Amino acid sequence: MSIPDGPPSLLKRRVDHIRLRDLFCDTVRKVSPLEGDRIRIELDDRIAGDKLNLVDRSPLHATLEGPAITAGEATAVPPLSVVMLIVGSRGDVQPFIPIAKRLTRDGHRVRIASHSVFRDFVEAHGIEFFPLAGDPRELMEYMVMTGGHLIPRHVHQLLEQVPRKRAVMAEILASTWAACTEPDPGRPGAQTFVADAVIANPPSQGHIHVAEALGAPLHIMFTMPWSPTRAFPHPFVHVISEAHPALRNRISFEAFDLLTWLGIGDLVNEFREQRLGLERVHGEHGASIIHEHAVPHAYLWSPSVLDKPDDWGPEIDVTGFVFLDEAARFDPPGPLQEFLGAGEPPVYVGFGSCPAPDPVALTATIFGGLAQAGVRGLVSRGWAHLGAASVPPQVHLVDELPHDWLFPRCAAVCHHGGAGTTAAGLRSGLPTIVVPFFGDQYFWGRIVSEAGAGPTPVPIGALTAETLAEAIRFALRPEVRDHAVALGQKVRTQRGDEDGVASFYRHLPLSTMRCSLDPAHLARRQCEECCLSLCLVCDRVVHEDAARAGHRRRPCAPVAWEVSKSSPLERVERALIGQLGAREPDEPKPGVTSRHDTGAVLREDSVAAKLYGRLAPISVDAATRARILQRFEFARGRTQSSARGSGD
Ligand SMILES: [Zn+2]
Ligand SMILES: [Zn+2]
Repeated sequence: MSIPDGPPSLLKRRVDHIRLRDLFCDTVRKVSPLEGDRIRIELDDRIAGDKLNLVDRSPLHATLEGPAITAGEATAVPPLSVVMLIVGSRGDVQPFIPIAKRLTRDGHRVRIASHSVFRDFVEAHGIEFFPLAGDPRELMEYMVMTGGHLIPRHVHQLLEQVPRKRAVMAEILASTWAACTEPDPGRPGAQTFVADAVIANPPSQGHIHVAEALGAPLHIMFTMPWSPTRAFPHPFVHVISEAHPALRNRISFEAFDLLTWLGIGDLVNEFREQRLGLERVHGEHGASIIHEHAVPHAYLWSPSVLDKPDDWGPEIDVTGFVFLDEAARFDPPGPLQEFLGAGEPPVYVGFGSCPAPDPVALTATIFGGLAQAGVRGLVSRGWAHLGAASVPPQVHLVDELPHDWLFPRCAAVCHHGGAGTTAAGLRSGLPTIVVPFFGDQYFWGRIVSEAGAGPTPVPIGALTAETLAEAIRFALRPEVRDHAVALGQKVRTQRGDEDGVASFYRHLPLSTMRCSLDPAHLARRQCEECCLSLCLVCDRVVHEDAARAGHRRRPCAPVAWEVSKSSPLERVERALIGQLGAREPDEPKPGVTSRHDTGAVLREDSVAAKLYGRLAPISVDAATRARILQRFEFARGRTQSSARGSGD
């Protein structure tokens, strides 16, 4: 078996993951909750210390960039029904709106599937919606209840909350499949929908499984790093070890994926078997499926803020932040305008949708910090329900406002460090104080501080009037302001929505998606006798002719994921039971190109074949029929002459 040069094969990637997972399992001494919904992992350095070779063996692929897609190519992508599966907060949904709009402009039908609280938000932008299970507010409140920890600290929380969370996860998984295949239940009489392509964020969990069931291309898009690297740690994991940082960082991703899989792997397998008609994923390799199969990714942050690490492959793009511009539609209330006009630009303070355990105390802290720093403040109420009966004269309270309107009128921003708010502050060239509550907020706080655009982050637990005032004074230093302004200039030149869509197009398996008779059609059936992949219309026209009516055609899909049928152990087993010397079975369609060489022929009784068969027949006028037949004759001529050529 040969392992090709260039991007590592599926097997090579899998072996890397197995080795690092084994190392983690051999060296882990303690896993414990860390403030802000993160985990702390302690390693035994007597074993971990000398294993750096495990990461140094990883290939460098920074130079292996995929080709840039041109505007002309984009128009040749067949019109697709695209589903976007997004589990998370409003900040997680927001960047998908400009991307959905951009795809719609290119002629695709796009549906955003997320928690039902976001229906109005999505539909207000003229985008189709589908409700996923789960309530982001409940998940946030759960974290507050467990003291900001993913792992409950008390037995009663364990007994009540973990089964509840797992039940919600099972509902979310089931709803990701409905989102790909059912009409919107909130709109009676809504049009049928079957996804041709899946865009998803990692917490949606159903992503690769629904894509496999449909034989559809999958593209992961996310606002924080979720792909293993030796350059920085997983945003949710803190590894305690003396081992080399490259090893610690790489292990942090492996550990997070493994712990997640241990928590929900059985639910995922139930989902695969019972809903999708797929085989189970065996062992713990479910933890790293996405990485092993080199699923294309678009990470939606600015490379000027965090560059793409050199050990991420060509399937991963870092595109730039995505902004949803709302300033033009915003009518500022009179009192706000008066406040802004009455003095120096204020410092904005707001913690988005993070609930505060004690809003009264937090409000007093914020007012105190602003007063001690001697600055005017704009304080957002948010889900923290901040506010007080008596608001000092140098402070003005606001509700949720478009950041692109508000931030250019401020001197600095102080927020929780959500990816979207961080991006909005940096785009406006503002010094940024991050007060992290959960998860990736700590990560973004560190990134901003390392970029020189703000002070060291002040976690919510350490926020006092004094620490806030000190952070504000730091943020307003001239050199910090200069760094922030310079960063803002770079961020403003990048277009995450354009680049995110380009990334999606670039990684589409167009060769297996296109109808042989017209690249603008989506292939749905393969005819062995014609040697063609045809869209439903061309298939009908070509095979209406009595001479070809008996041809055997089979439903097809663009991608053969074969997630569960690719265990390297199976190969060893086959070898051991005497098939040595027989033809080496094909590498199970690895990589961004070869996986897509042939696409998938679907079993007639498969879920996907039944769904595609259900699509409404399209009427064909005489001119279209004539054009299709002309192309068919041309294509047949080409096939016959090449067959003659090879026979000589
Ligand atoms: Zn045929
Ligand atoms: Zn066609």
